[in-house]
Amino acid sequence: MQTPIPFYLKEILDQAKPNTDGEVADYIPVLAKADPERLGLALCTTTGHVYSVGDDEVEFSIQSISKPFVYALALQELGVEAVKKVVGMEPSGEAFNELSLGEEDHRPVNPMINAGAMTTTQLINGVDSGVEERVERIRSFLSKLAGRELQIDQEVLDSEMEGADRNLSLAHMLRSYGIIEDEAHDAVLTYTQQCAINVTVKDLAIMAATLANGGTNPVTEEKLLDADVCQLTMAVMSSAGMYDGAGRWMANVGIPAKSGVAGGLLGMLPGQLGIASFSPRLNEEGNSVRGVEMFRRLSQDMGLHLMSTEERYGIQPIRNVIHEGADSYFYIQGRINFNAAETILHELFDYDLKDQNVIVDISRVNAVNRMGRRMLKEGLRRLREAGHEIAIVDPDNVMPNLEMRDGTMVPVREQEGALDPDEELRDEAATLTALAEESAAEESSTN
Ligand code: GLN
Repeated sequence: MQTPIPFYLKEILDQAKPNTDGEVADYIPVLAKADPERLGLALCTTTGHVYSVGDDEVEFSIQSISKPFVYALALQELGVEAVKKVVGMEPSGEAFNELSLGEEDHRPVNPMINAGAMTTTQLINGVDSGVEERVERIRSFLSKLAGRELQIDQEVLDSEMEGADRNLSLAHMLRSYGIIEDEAHDAVLTYTQQCAINVTVKDLAIMAATLANGGTNPVTEEKLLDADVCQLTMAVMSSAGMYDGAGRWMANVGIPAKSGVAGGLLGMLPGQLGIASFSPRLNEEGNSVRGVEMFRRLSQDMGLHLMSTEERYGIQPIRNVIHEGADSYFYIQGRINFNAAETILHELFDYDLKDQNVIVDISRVNAVNRMGRRMLKEGLRRLREAGHEIAIVDPDNVMPNLEMRDGTMVPVREQEGALDPDEELRDEAATLTALAEESAAEESSTN
């Protein structure tokens, strides 16, 4: 049996299909020959489930979508400071092939357009690397992100190299300011090969999901990047990924994204999923027309806007509080992040605890993040300082490190079999059912 998700994606795809606006890119001659009707859409969750519809097996060159991934690789290899020395992280609001350099230091400001991207590429595999080794490092890294061996499209490469005057001029300029060391031709050849790597929408969705997943490919489970590198890369994409349409994109769609001139478009929601589309006709900003349309619809229908305030934070972390003799049990549930921990501590410190023992039962908690852990432990430590006996109940070890700020450990209690946090709730439900049955019986007897 199939889940409804592919059907849902198909609906989005079918709605976009009739739109023939835009033009295929023609400044790279071979791209002008692309079939403009091609249309594909894929989604990969951070749990590694991949769904795809339409032309999901068709390969096309990755082009500018390689930029965020090579940027991430440079951050991973050299660290933020070294990368920041040669390229900024500002949205330039300019076209992809604009020569946009900082006024004083001549550093390219935006790593998501060509000047910044070529500079980033030059960092890979060390400044002394030859073209071939650098390209291979990039190709093999992108392959790991996709979970399969990707290849360079020779025809696309040759075609772009034939008319690479603009990129060559950018490279000459960068070299004249000492931003890159390689010969301009070599820098452009390296960058152009990176852009000519072939992918499918499925590859792109998995690559995006790897960033969303903090650097572990959710399908192959290989750890490829540090979480903070992914965070920074997605942050830069969110402000600078969509060329001169970046501001409107963030407002309307709200998904960090990157597009390429071959018609690919990819985006992700941190911690949730990666999405990718393929449709070759582009709008004036160089973004895929139907790709933009499908992303907009996905964002609206599925509530995927990054700034959406819907429901995500509305979960009640305290399930119940039960007093049993000298013990007060606080039953916590769900995922404990800053927000949830704040609610719990607010409640704990607001409570008229008298001299009760405070026992926090986290057996219904499925995850505690770093901040949630820190806050819970510090809250408990303060309660102990105020004279309460404290303990946690954690049968599944969701809170691994129990050491508090003063070096002591949070005491652990066994789960109390006798207590049932849901007893009252169930009683309430039973009463309601009984009342409903009674009135139903009454109704049928009067009829
Ligand atoms: N290889 C292309 C270029 O540098 C990539 C541009 C793009 O995808 N926007 O011109």
